[in-house]
Amino acid sequence: MNVIVFIKQVPGTTNVRMDPATGAMLRDPSDTVLNPLDEHAITEAAKIKDGQPGTVVTALTMGPPSAVKALQEACARGADQGVLLSHKAFAGSDTIATSRALAAAVRKLGPVDLILAGEKSIDGETGQVGPMTAAMLELPAVTFVRRLNLEGGRIRVQRLVEDGVEELAVTLPALVTVVRDINNPPLPSLRRYVMAKKMTFPVWGPEELGLKETDTGLKASPTRVVKVFSPKFARSTAIFRADGEAGLDASVQAVIDLLRTKEILKKGGA
Ligand SMILES: Cc1cc2nc3c(=O)[nH]c(=O)nc-3n(C[C@H](O)[C@H](O)[C@H](O)COP(=O)(O)OP(=O)(O)OC[C@H]3O[C@@H](n4cnc5c(N)ncnc54)[C@H](O)[C@@H]3O)c2cc1C
Repeated sequence: MNVIVFIKQVPGTTNVRMDPATGAMLRDPSDTVLNPLDEHAITEAAKIKDGQPGTVVTALTMGPPSAVKALQEACARGADQGVLLSHKAFAGSDTIATSRALAAAVRKLGPVDLILAGEKSIDGETGQVGPMTAAMLELPAVTFVRRLNLEGGRIRVQRLVEDGVEELAVTLPALVTVVRDINNPPLPSLRRYVMAKKMTFPVWGPEELGLKETDTGLKASPTRVVKVFSPKFARSTAIFRADGEAGLDASVQAVIDLLRTKEILKKGGA
């Protein structure tokens, strides 16, 4: 089988800073990790490879040159090879432009049986890239998958839905996004880390993907970050003193009146 896993390099810190002028994330290339959900996608691909000898797992990422680190991590965790999509023309890509480049790379990689991706990234968190790329490739997409079993030319999956679990059979080729319940990624051995560190990866830009430079990047991205701000929480304090029985009644009434003024309590009701 030919399995492709989409992986994304994300900030290794929760202290993410934004450029207030452009709305873009200020990224520190030295402080990045593999998107945690993508570890689960790689682990699932490695499990498939164990059960289906001859399976080739390719990790695919679009990002800056430092994203090689994420590809090495993916190879330490079970991928056989990796491809980096990196070019200045990709800068500023939103989810559509990112998906367009990923779809072109999948076509270039040849016939694929299964694409695995994380349910969402921990930085952008849109959850759009997997399903959007599947739509561009005209492949079925199944999201929020917590169990995956191969059955000949199709997969049987369990996906999380709001009020339970849905079981589906999907004909391959298909794209699946996984949730963290699907497996427990083991720590790779030191030997695999050392091997992955020595690996090199092809780097493709728009030309290699058969895309015009205007098909990707900021100009091809209809999404605009209009404003980036942190929600402000203000706290005001009101003190009600209760002296004696009558004072207690008056204080309780004052609290009720205040809650009604703020429309937390409705008139005549609780
Ligand atoms: C106007 C605009 C400008 C932007 N400029 C930049 C920029 O210059 N640089 C930048 O890094 N980001 C930029 N972004 C953010 C970028 O669009 C998103 O990070 C990217 O499209 C992925 O979206 P997401 O993080 O929500 O992924 P999600 O859809 O939440 O990710 C789900 C899964 O999709 C896969 N996936 C997601 N992204 C990639 C990827 N790049 N490669 C491979 N697999 C992937 C992974 O498996 C991931 O687990 C910009 C966004 C906007 C709106």
